[in-house]
Amino acid sequence: MFVDIDKIKKSLEEKIRDSLKALPARPKLAVVSTVKDSAVDLYLQSQQKSADNLGLGYELFNCQKDSVRQAEGVVKELARDKSVCGIMLCRPLAEGLDLGRLIENIPALKDVEGITFENMGRLFLGIPRVVSPVALACLEIIKAAGIDLYGKEAVVIGHSNTVGKPVAALLLNAMATVSICHIATSECRHLRSYVEKADVLVVSAGVPELVKGGWVKENSIIIDVGINKVGNKIVGDVEFLQAKERAAFVSPVPKGVGRLTIPFLFLNLIELFKLQNGI
Ligand code: NAD
Repeated sequence: MFVDIDKIKKSLEEKIRDSLKALPARPKLAVVSTVKDSAVDLYLQSQQKSADNLGLGYELFNCQKDSVRQAEGVVKELARDKSVCGIMLCRPLAEGLDLGRLIENIPALKDVEGITFENMGRLFLGIPRVVSPVALACLEIIKAAGIDLYGKEAVVIGHSNTVGKPVAALLLNAMATVSICHIATSECRHLRSYVEKADVLVVSAGVPELVKGGWVKENSIIIDVGINKVGNKIVGDVEFLQAKERAAFVSPVPKGVGRLTIPFLFLNLIELFKLQNGI
């Protein structure tokens, strides 16, 4: 099976352009960065370029000096700033910064990543409004693979608030039977048995080739979210070539899920703009 992720990306960008045409003003995203890191900088440059190309407003706030006090102040300021439609907290955060505390300063109506209590709560109650762009990207690829999730065994490896938990909630909302695995599952040597039964497997652990190709179920759909630098290569959390032998589809790393996260972030921004303006 082939899922054309670039084609999905183009159609999402088309949707962004069309949505923007119907808006009275240009929504602006404010991105707060607290670390100096070449990989993060590269990602932010590509985000800004993409925003410019699509016609969205974008402003980066670097809080690397005295980051703890400064980042909180900047987020509070952005929360009040009427010209800012959405706020994104770039990860990793600088040491000493507490993501939970920063999130409390983001109004749900400016929460472009779907990480506030309200937006996470809504997702888990089955009435989602703004959802993690990474989780949306995973579900979009699963949808494109053509699998009907009703009653399927779905296994999520990783229980982060930004990927594992929202992906699990989306799968549950689509009526899959969902298991969430994490480090303790591995340490208690149960991971393989969960992978073996998964019709749909989403892996977001950050451990290079954690999932062995021989474990995966025949004809399954595998979404690999992990991004790991090994030597000078980027690899995912799944043994790609071996897993491909058995699965119907394995999303590649790079050029997989990561391709769709920025478009979904921008679609969230547009959704927030509409909510803020009663559109
Ligand atoms: P995280 O780093 O916050 O947490 C890791 C999760 O994996 C935890 O639930 C932990 O218990 C679990 N885990 C760790 N080691 C494990 C093991 N040996 N067996 C089973 N579970 C294990 O998670 P995150 O923020 O979701 O990031 C995970 C990976 O996804 C990272 O490589 C990150 O770079 C990548 N990521 C990619 C994108 C993208 O756009 N493609 C977006 C976000 C994160």
